[in-house]
Amino acid sequence: MRNFTKSIDAYKESVDLMPGGVNSPVRAFKSVGMSPIFMESGKGAILTDVDGNEYIDYVLSWGPLILGHADDQVVESLKKVAEKGTSFGAPTTLESKLAKLVMERVPSVEMIRMVNSGTEATMSALRLARGYTGRDIILKFEGNYHGHGDSLLIKAGSGVATLGLPDSPGVPESVAKHTVTVPYNDKESVSYAFEQFGKDIAAVIVEPVTGNMGVVPPQNGFLEHLREVTKEYGALLIFDEVMTGFRVGYHCAQGHFNIDPDLTCLGKVIGGGLPVGAYGGKKEIMERVAPAGDIYQAGTLSGNPLAMTAGYETLSQIKEETYDEINHKVDTLVAGYEKAADKYNIPLQINRVGSMVGVFFTDQAIVNFETAQSSDLDRFAKYYRGMIEEGVFLPPSQYEGLFLSTAHSDELIEQTVQAIDKVFASL
Ligand code: PMP
Repeated sequence: MRNFTKSIDAYKESVDLMPGGVNSPVRAFKSVGMSPIFMESGKGAILTDVDGNEYIDYVLSWGPLILGHADDQVVESLKKVAEKGTSFGAPTTLESKLAKLVMERVPSVEMIRMVNSGTEATMSALRLARGYTGRDIILKFEGNYHGHGDSLLIKAGSGVATLGLPDSPGVPESVAKHTVTVPYNDKESVSYAFEQFGKDIAAVIVEPVTGNMGVVPPQNGFLEHLREVTKEYGALLIFDEVMTGFRVGYHCAQGHFNIDPDLTCLGKVIGGGLPVGAYGGKKEIMERVAPAGDIYQAGTLSGNPLAMTAGYETLSQIKEETYDEINHKVDTLVAGYEKAADKYNIPLQINRVGSMVGVFFTDQAIVNFETAQSSDLDRFAKYYRGMIEEGVFLPPSQYEGLFLSTAHSDELIEQTVQAIDKVFASL
């Protein structure tokens, strides 16, 4: 058995200092019946906790670390930049460097604004969509998570789904009433919502591949329908690519599915593990953002030199073929899951787009939040704890996906497949 003495001590201290002992609920391990594991360091695909236990990491800081932990080039560049000063409150050329790199790969982003988190990106994109259209209603999907902004914390996925708090207290009714939610992948409900409220809908915001109720891909025609109906009614289409951006492909999900959204939210990979978010899109819309335009949004540390550097050094190392390499490893991992499920007769569904992978303990196809909830959460928790014992670090919730990086070697994948076999045998 692994020893977690130091993690348990660290938790005893932190729980009196921070709500639940953590600074983000998804780190609490509550739904898998554990207390938080405190980490000490990471290198490549390996994480080491404060007790010295090592893990093959499939959380990767919840997505950003597509090159794995402490990539040499990223770390070297960060040291050099830090020595020159960490923040100036004035522009640097590093901001344009990252902006150009993002825009080259995502043609719908004709202008961009850097912020500090995915939450800020989506909140700001909503304000822009409302200001630009002069309308109030936002349409979102059940089980999609777009950060914790008031308007978006309605029937949300991720940690709020894990904790069973999809509609958080503290969001005023006067705000919530402007958010309409419909099931993911349900074109008819989208059309119906537009028939009812179309002239008041400012935007549809969507995870083009959902990663926050486990991984749920869009069904054929779903994203196309969103593009058509928003155009027809003069609403904006916002792709929340905070998770999918530069994760599912070189041109993000919008390139993968060939859809041209009006606005795109980014985060995670574009910050290479430092706090970054961004929103961008059509120039005509983005020019309404202050100080070019009249819609206000600002940030003391936005475009921070360290954050821009980590993002730039991460993205510049990723080529189109990098995704093929990672995807090939995902194939092996997924085959390992399927083989073990077959061998031990365990109902299992795997959804996967690129290196976003959702593993559900059910025999029902997972196409939306309702079907995601058919998963066997007790079995998930048992599997989770078993994998921890085997030295595999996974997102501690059924409603999250796992990720791979360039640092996951074939040997580590093989080790993981063996761990899956061993743990499935005990389920
Ligand atoms: N949008 C999506 C799709 C996300 O997955 C997340 C975070 N998991 C966010 C927004 C919020 O980003 P952050 O946690 O950086 O605020």
